[in-house]
Amino acid sequence: MNPRFTAPALRAQVARILEHAGSLPREAEQVADNLVLANLSGHDSHGVGMVPRYVDAVLEGGLKPNAALSVQLDTGPLLTLDGQRGYGQVIGEQALQMGIERARQYGTCTVALGNSHHLGRIGQFAEMATAAGLVSIHFVNVLSRPVVAAWQGGDGRFGTNPCCIGIPLRDAPPFVLDFATSRVAQGKMRVAHNQGKTVASGLLIDEHGAPTQNPGVVVVPQPGGGYGALMPFGEHKGYGLAVACELLGGALTGGGTWHQAADARKAVLNGMLTQLIDPVRLGTQAHFEAQAAAFVDWLRQSPPAPGTEGVQLAGEPERTTRAERLRDGIELDATTWQEIVAAAHKVGAPVHSD
Ligand code: NAD
Repeated sequence: MNPRFTAPALRAQVARILEHAGSLPREAEQVADNLVLANLSGHDSHGVGMVPRYVDAVLEGGLKPNAALSVQLDTGPLLTLDGQRGYGQVIGEQALQMGIERARQYGTCTVALGNSHHLGRIGQFAEMATAAGLVSIHFVNVLSRPVVAAWQGGDGRFGTNPCCIGIPLRDAPPFVLDFATSRVAQGKMRVAHNQGKTVASGLLIDEHGAPTQNPGVVVVPQPGGGYGALMPFGEHKGYGLAVACELLGGALTGGGTWHQAADARKAVLNGMLTQLIDPVRLGTQAHFEAQAAAFVDWLRQSPPAPGTEGVQLAGEPERTTRAERLRDGIELDATTWQEIVAAAHKVGAPVHSD
């Protein structure tokens, strides 16, 4: 049977491992909180299953525990920040906190963040911004391995480049659209591979560019030594958005773009361009709130299509899963748990499996 954990127990276990890997207690707890929240939200791909990779990245020197955000430029509403290869869960929150203060002051803030280690679930930053009453738009690139094919290309050329939009709604939870621009997240292929499952058709090509349903093609080296690739979502349009994420999240932020062959290093760097807007300062708040509420109401009146649960707003599936998993616990597949235990052993951290 797969192990199941309460959120606090899993948080404590992850924090122990990260502390033994060199993080100060506060950083270890903040990263653990963020990862467990991703699991609670139903995004296991960006949850505690990342810990073995983070530990390897720290041991290789590509991820720097206890790094502090460095300010490269500050004009008030424009911030350029360097994450110094620190844990993105901490660096990303610090960057958003600065951006939120500035957006309150100036009505808007553009935050260019480069050189952060993996930022995890980008929706967490949109949730921070919307909780402060702000609209947020995030374009993110991924420097780790070129795992996504260009539209009409036959091999991987860039990362899963997520895009995220958060919009606060009056008297209701926010709209939080948060997705990889690949048809599925790479981490979901890792989870499927660990569970020994095949995946739907149309998601993957193998190392020769041919369609496949084997998630292992993007998880483990293939017989020829290379990897397959994920397909971009939305055909040429999703591909275009992925390129925009690379150009804005990678080039414009100063973080850098991907343009080299794959290597085996474990570090995952993200660049993120964030635009924050305060509807109060834009002068449209009353109209915005009323019109947004009217539209959401109108959407919800749509009759459910046959065989579906009906219309939802982005952000709802995560909130529903959160409530369920807080109640029932978080189940990890056996391979993911074994990998976490192995990571704990690598850094001499004790393991409690309850
Ligand atoms: P996904 O395909 O599960 O889509 C998630 C989005 O779709 C959410 O906004 C969700 O609320 C919405 N959604 C889902 N079902 C819906 C429905 N029935 N009606 C309305 N909206 C619905 O997500 P994904 O592409 O697998 O991405 C998963 C996570 O991976 C995201 O949090 C993303 O930020 C993260 N990610 C991070 C990186 C990185 O390098 N840091 C890279 C890629 C992805």
